[in-house]
Amino acid sequence: MTYTIEKTATLIGARRYGCHESKIGFLLTDSRSLCFPEETLFFALKSRRNDGHRYIPELYRRGVRNFVVTDVPANYAADYPAANFLRVVSALEALQRLAERHRDAFDIPIVGITGSNGKTMVKEWLHQLMSPDMYVTRSPRSYNSQIGVPLSVWLMNERTRLGIFEAGISQKGEMAALRDIIQPTIAVLTNIGAAHQENFESMEAKCREKVLLFHDADTIVYNADDRMISEVVGELAYTGEKLCWSTRDNSVSMYVKSIAKEGNATTVTYIYKGGEENKYSIPFIDEASVTNSIVCAAVALRLGLGVDALKERMSRLEPVAMRLEVKEGRHGCTLINDSYNSDINALGIALDFMNRRPDHKGRSRTLILSDIFQSGEEPEKLYENVGDLAVKRGVHKLIGIGPTISRYAARARTPEKYGFATVEDFIHSKEFKNLRDEVILLKGARQFGFDKITELLVQKVHETVLEVNLNAMVDNLNHYRSFLRPETKMVCMIKANAYGAGSVEIAKTLQDHRVDYLAVAVADEGAMLRGKGITNSIIIMNPEFSAFKTMFDNDLEPEVYSFRLLSALVKAAEKEGITGYPVHIKIDTGMNRLGFNPERDMDELIDRLKHQDAVIPRSVFSHFVGSDSNDFDNFSAEQFARFDKASQRLQEAFEHKILRHMDNSAGIEHFPDRQLDMCRLGIGLYGVDSRTNTIINNVSTLKTTILQLRHVPASQTVGYSRKGTLERDSVIAAIPIGYADGLNRRLGNRRGYCLVNGQKAEYVGNICMDVAMVDVTGIACAEGDSVEIFGDHLPVTVLSDILGTIPYEVLTGISNRVKRVYFQD
Ligand SMILES: *Cc1c(COP(=O)(O)O)cnc(C)c1O
Repeated sequence: MTYTIEKTATLIGARRYGCHESKIGFLLTDSRSLCFPEETLFFALKSRRNDGHRYIPELYRRGVRNFVVTDVPANYAADYPAANFLRVVSALEALQRLAERHRDAFDIPIVGITGSNGKTMVKEWLHQLMSPDMYVTRSPRSYNSQIGVPLSVWLMNERTRLGIFEAGISQKGEMAALRDIIQPTIAVLTNIGAAHQENFESMEAKCREKVLLFHDADTIVYNADDRMISEVVGELAYTGEKLCWSTRDNSVSMYVKSIAKEGNATTVTYIYKGGEENKYSIPFIDEASVTNSIVCAAVALRLGLGVDALKERMSRLEPVAMRLEVKEGRHGCTLINDSYNSDINALGIALDFMNRRPDHKGRSRTLILSDIFQSGEEPEKLYENVGDLAVKRGVHKLIGIGPTISRYAARARTPEKYGFATVEDFIHSKEFKNLRDEVILLKGARQFGFDKITELLVQKVHETVLEVNLNAMVDNLNHYRSFLRPETKMVCMIKANAYGAGSVEIAKTLQDHRVDYLAVAVADEGAMLRGKGITNSIIIMNPEFSAFKTMFDNDLEPEVYSFRLLSALVKAAEKEGITGYPVHIKIDTGMNRLGFNPERDMDELIDRLKHQDAVIPRSVFSHFVGSDSNDFDNFSAEQFARFDKASQRLQEAFEHKILRHMDNSAGIEHFPDRQLDMCRLGIGLYGVDSRTNTIINNVSTLKTTILQLRHVPASQTVGYSRKGTLERDSVIAAIPIGYADGLNRRLGNRRGYCLVNGQKAEYVGNICMDVAMVDVTGIACAEGDSVEIFGDHLPVTVLSDILGTIPYEVLTGISNRVKRVYFQD
């Protein structure tokens, strides 16, 4: 479905500058995601930190002709002779209005889903239940924000018979806009939990905001057993159909009579609208899946799905894999694994993710894709679109696997293309053996069994992994940015292998989110990042005297903390004929570690800097000794005063701007008034609030699996030196992680614990080098089950507290042999 530019201008009430015929098919809010310039309408959004207007020249050069702006460029007719500018008061509101007008054109059922958890699962399962009968348009991944919702709704087209959209809010005032865009005929509230509570005065307040989605819906769906939700809904004076579910009250529309778990399945017995008793089973047993299935059943029945079809499709529900995983593969390959339902919109997002990640020169991009189901398009057209998308996203090699895609793969315009009927055929082909030094996106519908390809391609080392959640890291970045003025710059500390999380992937993500500087400890770390395609400015905190050449060759900016270092650096730069090389001056205001003395050294420092032109001070900084504790507030104030004075003196001696910075993570939070020009974010990025010793958004989860279970009678011992004498007959699990992986030996002998299927299991006996033993007596578990050492459910701060240390040490102690796996929702 396309709109003429003329119609678009009318729909959003814009004043138009430029009069070129044009058709709009794609909406763009992030210049980096551009794919089809000719049909794209770019919205120049303004946020606290960024202004989309900045990207207009670049986008115009890349072929974009249509822009929604608040400020029309001064010489638009001369500078952009072929462009149309639509001027509005707010580009975000224009985007939302356009989606809303688009929504108005559809007289079909639209399901809007909100709630703290389960939105995506309910959306995907409803899609699985309904899509055999009708073409469904739904939010791709979890596009549920003020920007994501309009972009999702825009995807509806002539074929759409049902829309399913998520509405996510994080603060007051957001839901009304989302409701107006979605205009749900059926509005669903999954539940109310703790997420984003910091922005609401109470749980009720958050619930009230969420139920704004219910206004004007024909049918509302919620949990009648939740008192708070029922009360808040009661306040609404809502007169439409209440389709509640309950396990207690048989007068509601969806009465759940019983829930029975058996083996790996759960059977739900229900009575819908006072009719016959019916049942369905799902192949899951966890609480969340069961509740979400009940929501889906209620909505599907309301949409007219028959009880038999419901039963049959429920039994075949597939798990919803939300995550894009990045893993190191064999032969120099990187694997991006996306097992999220394969449709073309989700494919577009995954390709964009791959395309936006910088990479070493020379590694080409490969897409391995299965047949796409339920696209509502003829296969010929569908796979032509897929081929186009792949070409635009820089894919070099397309490998199509499945009876349909294999027939069309040959027509793609990617330089290399192959088709295989099955995964087996592919695995035994020479194309499989030839995968080398490539970035590979694997995207396959579940029934094709792409897991097998992943298994063969991923380097198998040992079953212990550190899972790193890149979304959570970005949320933490934004959390700390929210304390700062929009113009304050940010250094992200990725020293010590990004506090253990792995500096390459972390740097790629930070670069994509436009941080100003990255900082590492030594030159080699910086050079390695350059090799992996990182172009951000990089500061070297501990420049070695032997590594100046590496720094010059890789544009790495050293910290300078002493006269000896300064002289050596200047000499080395002069020898290379370098002038104006940026350096960062460190002042010691109380740590007594490294740095110039703010009173005694400044005259000489300024004098020396003035009498050479090899290096120039780019920034000047100092470090708080105790910003994480109020006990040191007086000392911090003294430190700041000394720094303030010394750094001003340095600035006054030079014409150019010298960035001044002092705040670290805790400082950003505790002393936002001391943010100066720039802040240095470290531990907070990785999710630890060092002031309260709590987790903001957890980033890293250290996981392993049970290798072996054994029954050990009371009075026997476990492990070296006969330490762990058992007081009762016990079940002991051996797990493949030891002190050589960074599991501190002091956690042994029941001082620490891990989580086995969510339950505390103490370490028994001494922790060995590569293996540890835990007591799982009374815990339902099997060999192969997953074990959490720390992470989402067991905060790393629990371990550091037991060990009497700080979370920094636990995080940075995870050794290199532990595989890092990155994912993003
Ligand atoms: C590591 C480091 C930081 C970051 O400190 P956090 O407490 O992790 O935020 C800031 N500045 C300097 C000089 C550092 O070495």
